Amino acid sequence: MSPRPDLGPKPRLGYTASLIDRAAERRVDAAALAALENDPRARSYVVGGELVVLKKATEDNDPLFTPGEARALGRTAEAVFLGLIENAPRFAVALDPAAAEALKTRDEFVVTDLRSIAVGGLVTPDHLPPLAEGKALLHWHARHRFCSNCGAATNVVEAGWRRDCPSCRTQHFPRTDPVAIMLPVAGERCLLGRSHRFQRGMWSCLAGFVEPGEAIEDAVRRETLEEAGIVCGRVSYFASQPWPFPTSLMIGCHAQALSHEIVIDRAELDDARWFSREEVASMLLRRHPDGLTTPPTVAIAYHIIRAWVEEEVDFR
Ligand SMILES: [Zn+2]
Repeated sequence: MSPRPDLGPKPRLGYTASLIDRAAERRVDAAALAALENDPRARSYVVGGELVVLKKATEDNDPLFTPGEARALGRTAEAVFLGLIENAPRFAVALDPAAAEALKTRDEFVVTDLRSIAVGGLVTPDHLPPLAEGKALLHWHARHRFCSNCGAATNVVEAGWRRDCPSCRTQHFPRTDPVAIMLPVAGERCLLGRSHRFQRGMWSCLAGFVEPGEAIEDAVRRETLEEAGIVCGRVSYFASQPWPFPTSLMIGCHAQALSHEIVIDRAELDDARWFSREEVASMLLRRHPDGLTTPPTVAIAYHIIRAWVEEEVDFR
């Protein structure tokens, strides 16, 4: 076997390792919440649909706005309490998406989507977890203003962590959608696929939503069989990542491939094939002779693939 490739220091997985203390007990305490809103250290992240508003700076852009600054940006909808950072309150405010779009013309702001912010390192990495929290929660609000039980308009309660129906009394909670993302491996080979929407040359893990009544392990085996025709045996959990596009939780796994012949579901995948450890290492290092790459380091797929290349996975 060739020596283990040196892939350099491990990059941080995007949107994880949040410094936020969610302080959930304060959500139900109206007096405590009012005090947080009036705290001079209170700052808000501003999200307009898919867009995030940043104050432009030469080094790292600043995503935090005072309440007055946030109000001045345009028409806002829900505001949610994200939690505390060193006792300083953090909120996320929904800005009208058209107002966010209009701010693109202003020189003092950077207005772009959260993927571009994460991949381009447009803010310090510690801002990514609260941005993910705020974006996912505000997206849920934008699509759950009416009761799914009776159709009445619902009210925001608990600092944005619940909506209540005044008509039928149903309580609605923010949703998180679990997605299994997996790397099937067999000895010195792993299986990577290409989705139709991937940029040219990029290969990644397979992925799919975990369905109701389904264990994560079963979702991994089902998706791998459906998309690539590969039968998998053992499944091992690797790590998870909030993925606020719009409200997913990526559950990263490695899977022991028991069969080898690939049958591609062309509706799901553009292509899929087996790769050697050496070839994947060159992709992670951006040194593949044909320019093939893995996803960027902020994405969990990079870390799932790298763990296998670094021989942290063993189904023998
Ligand atoms: Zn209702």
